Amino acid sequence: MSSFGSSLTSTLLHSVSSFQVSHLSPIWKDLVRLQHDPASQSIVGSNVWKWKVGNGVKILLWHDVWVKDKPLKDCYPSVFAATRLTFITVSECFMLSLSNRLQFSEVELGLIRPLSLFISAQVTDLGLLMASIHLDTRVDDLVYWSCSSDGVYSVSDAIRVIVQSNFTNAPPWPKVVWGNNVPSKVMLFHWLAIRNSIPVYEILISRHILPASHSNLCIWCLEEVETVNHLLLHCKWAFKLWSDLLCWWNLVWVIPGSIEEFSLDWFFGMGIRAAKFWKLIGPATIWAIWLARNDFIFNRKFSCRSVLMYVIIEDDMESLNNISDT
Ligand SMILES: [Zn+2]
Repeated sequence: MSSFGSSLTSTLLHSVSSFQVSHLSPIWKDLVRLQHDPASQSIVGSNVWKWKVGNGVKILLWHDVWVKDKPLKDCYPSVFAATRLTFITVSECFMLSLSNRLQFSEVELGLIRPLSLFISAQVTDLGLLMASIHLDTRVDDLVYWSCSSDGVYSVSDAIRVIVQSNFTNAPPWPKVVWGNNVPSKVMLFHWLAIRNSIPVYEILISRHILPASHSNLCIWCLEEVETVNHLLLHCKWAFKLWSDLLCWWNLVWVIPGSIEEFSLDWFFGMGIRAAKFWKLIGPATIWAIWLARNDFIFNRKFSCRSVLMYVIIEDDMESLNNISDT
């Protein structure tokens, strides 16, 4: 008997986990990582997909989430350990009971005798819980997403759940990246930089898009490997750019170790009062560095720091105009 929803999610991810992660594509690696990410689990984890009982044909009695907020095997682990019918459906259990209601006993649950007093008490408790369940043979079972009022998954509801959840150690990326008032292309670039996914030389060569013989050196300093963090933060050119920028605002700043740290520093304002304007500058600056880098590589145009500054200011003013228009 097949089931989908929660069972599909866990089965799919379990199957993927059985491969060596290093052999997977970046997309599959990200999917596998979802198993361990609390923010992802809160919107696509197995416990947020629940079943509304109809005829009970598709629902796995022990493994699916249907009558409680988690699978019955987790609610009654001792009873589950004692049963031989671990993959019985609700419908099959109903047929075994030969009544209009689910009436559990050792027979229906396929329990292995003898049972301890504790397990017998758990079976009785489970039986009481099931006594209120009615099957309707005219209606199919329905899987729904428990995070929205209508049971239908939507991206906006998923973002709301993540933002409202208080995950320890989980940075507020939706607010940091997607809540900023910069153009959408800048938001997307910022997110890709955080995910270490912009096509710098290090990444292009490691993914065999460029041959291994191709130089991986930063085009500005020609001294270090062009990584995302080097290009946008640590290159001596980028460092000078950030230093000048912060000097205008009379700020002392220790350059962060990664774009993630940079993004959080910037998001939390660094003590600047004009927070709304300030939040534009960081993403606009890394975007300007990227444009200057591409200009040099593809158009052979050298963007000195003054040109970079011009691009930054122009980008920020464009964003500000957009804000004032809305
Ligand atoms: Zn460099």
